[in-house]
Amino acid sequence: MTEAKNVIRPEIQAMHAYPVSDATGLIKLDVMESPWPLPDWLAKEVGEVVSKVAINRYPVPSAERLRALIRGVMQVPAGCDVLLGNGSDECIQYITAAVAREGAVVMAPTPSFAMFQMHALFYRVRFAGVTLRNDFSLDAEAFLAAMDKEKPALVWIAFPNNPTGNAFPIADIERIIRAAPGLVVIDEAYQPFAGATFMPRLTEFENMVVMRTVSKISMAGLRLGYVCGRPEWIGAFNKTRSPFNINVLTEAVAIKLLENKAVLDQQAVRVLNERGRVQSELAELGGLTAYPSAANFVLGRVAGGKDAGTRVFERMKASGVLVKDFSGGHPLLENCLRLTIGTPAENRAMIDALRAALSA
Ligand SMILES: *Cc1c(COP(=O)(O)O)cnc(C)c1O
Repeated sequence: MTEAKNVIRPEIQAMHAYPVSDATGLIKLDVMESPWPLPDWLAKEVGEVVSKVAINRYPVPSAERLRALIRGVMQVPAGCDVLLGNGSDECIQYITAAVAREGAVVMAPTPSFAMFQMHALFYRVRFAGVTLRNDFSLDAEAFLAAMDKEKPALVWIAFPNNPTGNAFPIADIERIIRAAPGLVVIDEAYQPFAGATFMPRLTEFENMVVMRTVSKISMAGLRLGYVCGRPEWIGAFNKTRSPFNINVLTEAVAIKLLENKAVLDQQAVRVLNERGRVQSELAELGGLTAYPSAANFVLGRVAGGKDAGTRVFERMKASGVLVKDFSGGHPLLENCLRLTIGTPAENRAMIDALRAALSA
């Protein structure tokens, strides 16, 4: 008899599926969603758009209208092309697939976004992480030295970085791009909160592309990410794409919402204001070190021995607030909790729950 364990790759058997917590009944501050619903008038317009979509038809494979809108709204430089993915997670898959020659190496600072490493595993390319310093700053010299040794086909730089929240210095990233023997992808998932971008510099660096997502600006449920870059890169990634990866509902709704980007921008500004407030309140709490953030979340480290962070996480959850616990993952993240910025009321509840949990 055929058994799955004799067929499935051992490294797949050894891994866990990407963990997503059940947030039923909880204040959900675990995965960097925008906390704001759409205004009623816009939700209504979305409904009208959706009602007219031809669900019986396959999508137009090029999603030309949406790509053209993204070019304009996101100020993609002239001469650059856009690839769409079912979330930027899928863009990571396509890019990895396109570079995964025999013996290719993928590099990134670690800890960073888990999907960089997961897709390297799926496509059988070696992942060489370069550990950040204890304060999560980038050791540029160490990274350059590792690149010199590994000759990576692909380097991922999350700018700002997740889960640490900091944005590495632009000058260090420039040095990495200049020295890289292969492609460097700047993952700007948190660009709306960062106040900095590499997008205009696509014309300057031949070996760089910029990846973004709409997930953190009120559209996580749509699943839409995109990669911008020179046609030589985007054309190659496009060959690895599932032909109809952007479904008709996502395309129609994303067009409607990006045509009203001012609404999304306002929501992002509210998140930024809240981030400032949350940071100053966290700074007052004893027993927690909050790290600087250029994103819509703050990483905090609970003081104490083993499992101190997980205990605080569990207590917060018991009092109705779900955040993300990073203990047991990367050693640098021991006792670290990632706190997504929510509405003022959610943040108040989060800080109260955190304060109580820390002093319990
Ligand atoms: C959230 C996130 C993404 C991916 O988001 P999608 O929802 O798949 O578009 C990509 N990169 C980083 C660093 C992220 O934090």
